[in-house]
Amino acid sequence: MADSATNVPPPPHTIFDTILVLDFGSQYTHLITRRLRELNIYSEMLPCTQKISELSFKPKGIILSGGPYSVYWDDAPHVDPAVFDMGVPILGICYGLQEIAWHSDQKNVVAGEKREYGHAILNVHKHSGKTAHVDALFAGLEEDMDVWMSHGDKLSQRPAGFVTVASSGNAPFAGIAHEEKEWFGIQFHPEVTHTKKGTPLIKNFAANICGAKQDWTMDAFVGKEIERIRALVGPKGQVIGAVSGGVDSTVAAKLMHEAIGDRFHAIMVDNGVLRLNEAKQVKETLTAGLGINLTVIDASDRFLDLLAGVKDDPEKKRKIIGNTFIEIFQEKAKEIAAAAKGSANEGEIEWLLQGTLYPDVIESISFKGPSATIKTHHNVGGLLEGMHLKLIEPLRELFKDEVRALGTQLGIPEDLVWRHPFPGPGLAIRIIGEVTRDQVRIAQQADHIFIEEIKKAGYYKQISQAYAALLPVKAVGVMGDKRVHAQVIALRAVETTDFMTADVFDFPTKFLSKVSTRIVNEVDGVCRVLYEVTSKPPGTIEME
Ligand code: GLN
Repeated sequence: MADSATNVPPPPHTIFDTILVLDFGSQYTHLITRRLRELNIYSEMLPCTQKISELSFKPKGIILSGGPYSVYWDDAPHVDPAVFDMGVPILGICYGLQEIAWHSDQKNVVAGEKREYGHAILNVHKHSGKTAHVDALFAGLEEDMDVWMSHGDKLSQRPAGFVTVASSGNAPFAGIAHEEKEWFGIQFHPEVTHTKKGTPLIKNFAANICGAKQDWTMDAFVGKEIERIRALVGPKGQVIGAVSGGVDSTVAAKLMHEAIGDRFHAIMVDNGVLRLNEAKQVKETLTAGLGINLTVIDASDRFLDLLAGVKDDPEKKRKIIGNTFIEIFQEKAKEIAAAAKGSANEGEIEWLLQGTLYPDVIESISFKGPSATIKTHHNVGGLLEGMHLKLIEPLRELFKDEVRALGTQLGIPEDLVWRHPFPGPGLAIRIIGEVTRDQVRIAQQADHIFIEEIKKAGYYKQISQAYAALLPVKAVGVMGDKRVHAQVIALRAVETTDFMTADVFDFPTKFLSKVSTRIVNEVDGVCRVLYEVTSKPPGTIEME
């Protein structure tokens, strides 16, 4: 089924069996979608207020997430009652369970005498005879399950038409199932890793009860997405986009190249605060290696001249770099557009590629409750003045690990696929104080040594982000029997899954000494090396 107006092939939810997650604002909702995708089942999240009549696809099943409200509050969010008439299986998790019970009778949910946060032992109740089908949710799981709970409310009674399939010391109706319809509710959170058999339970629901096919693979996605881009852009349309050498922009660029060849124009701006030799390496990998039509603009002098004299205001550094980047990108985009206009079989540049990922989409559509305003999605399209470009976002359905799998699928070198994130303002925010050409040299060389040693020792993939920062202080040292007064490098390496919180990576002291020796010996202007041991929070991952 294609979109009749534009002949664009349909989005994934119309091609792949989809489990719809309706979000009540729990901080774990996105994890439900993650777990399903890990099971190769396609899943999308929408706010709990979604009108069923306005849904553009038919899901195989629906999961109602947890949420911070109490269903019996006057302003509590509720699903469109049409959810219960769709004839598809429903699983309610925590608030979702309470929502199912409340829907059947508003007297069913009350504030518990005791809140329950953390581990609990769940007793699974097996049924026989005509209600045996209700066992499907816990099929193959142990009768005593280690689960994770986070609730204050509970069911005061079993809703009419339901049987109890699980209970815990504090929650007698910790699992319920409808006797006829495929509706299930659980008080605990199967999506968090603290619930030991959470994923098999989600699989029981999605694959066995809903019958969703486990065919969501990157292999299946690539071909369909390339087809979709071609149809969207048309036979002559052209697209521009910025690349940074990071995994997201490279994967997006490669996908565009596969779809429309040289009608995709990649632009890389060398802002003078990239990693050592980065612009050169990115050019080699993207052009010679991946065949992408790339223009690298060396604007280092323009950036570094503007950064001169900016000492104590990191925000100012960020602004200078951000605004100058947009100016340069825009100048180049206009040039490319003008050059493209005359060519015989090519149309105008109408599109701007953006590497938006699913977590950004989730962030912009999550249910934030009656009082909170929903963050509008950052849109650089609007920033390219006078060009009226439409956005093309081929990664907007994907999580980061899916982007990596896609990168591997597209033949992008392993090194690049697993690259640590690098901030837009680059080394400028890792050089505390003024950014001068010499400070950039020191930061680049020190960082290069640190990363090289990390790779040699085999730590690179275990670490989420690592870098060397330059502190604007001088310390005393003795080098070659001579007293020196030189600068200090701070090494930082963190482990994190979502970059919201992070732990410091635990290097052996021997490794740190080795890096320190190399930096002090090889980088002119440094006489000491420190290891930064602040977790996030209270620290941030970057220094400024
Ligand atoms: N607010 C509800 C309760 O406290 C639901 C909590 C949840 O969904 N985690 O029971």
